[in-house]
Amino acid sequence: MKVLLLGKNGKVGSALGPALEAAGHVLVDSAGEADAAVDFTRPDAVLANVRTCLEAGAPCVVGTTGFDREELEALAREHGLPVFFAPNFALGAVLMIRFAAEAARLLDHAEIVELHHATKLDAPSGTAKATAEAIGRETPIHSVRLPGLVAHQEVIFGGPGETLTIRHDTTSREAFTPGVLLALERVRSLPPGLTVGLDALL
Ligand code: NAP
Repeated sequence: MKVLLLGKNGKVGSALGPALEAAGHVLVDSAGEADAAVDFTRPDAVLANVRTCLEAGAPCVVGTTGFDREELEALAREHGLPVFFAPNFALGAVLMIRFAAEAARLLDHAEIVELHHATKLDAPSGTAKATAEAIGRETPIHSVRLPGLVAHQEVIFGGPGETLTIRHDTTSREAFTPGVLLALERVRSLPPGLTVGLDALL
């Protein structure tokens, strides 16, 4: 597939570009040439990028976080094309969210601690917000930003005399590649409009 990778020099994009090529995709330089686009850029750039791609007829896979999701949904609806957004493309993170939702059925108290590299622009992370949504009740989120970290999260449940900690660690940005490849394979056959979360494709 011909893919426009937006943010190809960024921390995620620089790992993703070679991985997409190794999987047989061809990276192109403009939306007009692309069968689909992938965006790992910045919260203040992503919506304009998606608009340009949709105007050129290219369905979009979005990994950027920290922007207004309703605006993305409106763009996808307005153009009648599929847009796929996942707050986390790592398979282990999807499982962490599933397990947290399961634990929340039996344990009433939970808090989320998310830890990321110091240059992450948004807080709390998209993954932490998605986890709180899956838990289904008001859940405090604590954000840590430090050099040396990549992307990590703990969901801690507490009850009388016990705690349960569900933890996911992204130790390398390679973790996002399988999820992005899956989304690219499927995006053109998704219904027009916004689809959210890797769970929808698994
Ligand atoms: P990063 O290292 O800051 O990279 C962002 C890249 O986007 C930079 O190369 C930047 O170029 C480029 N860029 C900025 N504005 C642009 C525009 N208008 N068009 C095209 N490219 C543009 O950030 P990152 O760590 O790779 O993360 C990127 C985004 O993905 C963040 O929102 C992050 O939270 C999110 N993320 C999501 C997942 C997930 O699984 N969903 C995983 C990791 C990260 P310049 O440096 O030249 O400005």
